[in-house]
Amino acid sequence: LLHVEKLTKQFGRTEVLKGITLDIYKGDVVCIIGPSGSGKSTFLRCLNRIEEPSSGSIIFDGEDICQKNVDIDKHRQRMGMVFQQFNLFPHMNVIKNLTLAPVKLQGKSEEEAHEYAEQLLKRVGLADRAEFYPSQLSGGQQQRIAIVRALCMKPDVMLFDEPTSALDPEMVGEVLSVMSDLAKTDMSMVVVTHEMGFAKEVANRVVFLDRGEFIEENRPDEFFSNPVSPRLKSFLGKVL
Ligand code: ATP
Ligand code: MG
Repeated sequence: LLHVEKLTKQFGRTEVLKGITLDIYKGDVVCIIGPSGSGKSTFLRCLNRIEEPSSGSIIFDGEDICQKNVDIDKHRQRMGMVFQQFNLFPHMNVIKNLTLAPVKLQGKSEEEAHEYAEQLLKRVGLADRAEFYPSQLSGGQQQRIAIVRALCMKPDVMLFDEPTSALDPEMVGEVLSVMSDLAKTDMSMVVVTHEMGFAKEVANRVVFLDRGEFIEENRPDEFFSNPVSPRLKSFLGKVL
């Protein structure tokens, strides 16, 4: 689904991503873990070119989306993104937040967009919150809405950047459970996370990013029980 080849990113003179190669297959749940500042967010943001890669290629469904002439907006619509901060539109109620993009960008009718949004709201247990404004919702609820908003576009892949790290501890579980349900629907997902439990149980591959390089990648059981590189061993020693 996604083939990333020798992706680099420089900010001025600092090279934040040093040639990253990664394949994401359909239905994959790939967790990316690594120390703060290692380039995880930058990598994720490069995937849909919110951040412009310095070099390398990203083949999305057979097309190199780093080429100058591609219609990146079209591709972005197929990549749902969920951030640490929920980024809902504060002046719009939930249903408006959910239906805006499908109607404006995908030409869906209001009815069709509504119906699909309500269906998804039900799935995450928030059917009764459709008329609420973001400020009237808890952090965990807002983040579940943000996930639903991305899903309303019927994306081919979902990108998550530490979706639970801005949440109070008691709300982390509800968001992770929505994500793990989503994984069961065969959605392709790339998840930057500090939640090692989630990586262990839900991911089918875990990747360790350190100082702009992918150091190690494995199945979760192997990754956590038999880390090979000293850097991963030391990282796991600190976080587990
Ligand atoms: P965290 O776990 O804290 O979120 P991260 O792995 O997501 O960290 P990034 O946010 O990708 O790390 O940042 C990687 C490096 O790139 C950092 O050293 C950061 O200072 C630098 N960086 C990120 N964005 C920019 C920018 N717009 N301009 C300059 N440097 C940047
Ligand atoms: Mg980050």
